[in-house]
Amino acid sequence: MQFQVQIKLLFNNVIKTTDTLKKKGYSIFATQDWHPLNHVSFYTNHKEKKAFETIKINQKTQVLWPPHCVQGTENAKVLVDNNLFSASCIVRKGQNPNSYSGFKDDGGQTTDLAQILEKNGIKKVIIYGIATDYCVKATAIDALSAGFKVIVIESLCKGVSSDTTAKALLEMKEKGITILKNLDLEKI
Ligand SMILES: [Zn+2]
Repeated sequence: MQFQVQIKLLFNNVIKTTDTLKKKGYSIFATQDWHPLNHVSFYTNHKEKKAFETIKINQKTQVLWPPHCVQGTENAKVLVDNNLFSASCIVRKGQNPNSYSGFKDDGGQTTDLAQILEKNGIKKVIIYGIATDYCVKATAIDALSAGFKVIVIESLCKGVSSDTTAKALLEMKEKGITILKNLDLEKI
C-alpha cells in the first residue's frame, strides 16, 4: 500500500478510536510537536546534511528530520477534534532542545504531562500515534517510569522504519509495557 494511503488510514483510525474512547468515558490527552522553524532536529538547519542523517548533540545521536510541526502552522495541528480534550490537555513538546518523549526533553526538562495525568487521577495510559520507534517509545517508557500502567496499541501507531519499529516494540515489551495489536477494551 502506498505510504500516503497508509497514513490516511492510520489518521482516520486514530480519530475514530479517540472518539470511541471519549464516548466510553476515557479522558483524552495529547502531545503536540511544536518546533521552532530553526529547530536543531531539522536537517535544513545544518549545512550539507540530508534528511535522516545523524549528528551528535551533547554526545547523543540526533536524527535529522524533515521540517515538521512548525509552531503555528497547519502542519502542527493536533489530528483529533480538539473538543475531545479537557482543558489544558494538549502538552506541547520539542520546542528546544529536542524531545521525543511527551514527559521530558533531551535536556531533562520535564513537561506538565505527568502532573496533568496525576491531577486527573489517571493510573493507566493507552498510547498511540507516531512514530512508534521515536516519540511513542520514549513517551511510553517515561510513562512507565512515572508509575503508570502503560498499553501501546500497535495498529494505531506507525514507525519510521520497520527494523527500528520491531526493536522498539520489543524494548517496550521487555520493560513491562503491554503491546496490543489492536485496541481491545476487554483486555485493558
Ligand atoms: Zn518533531
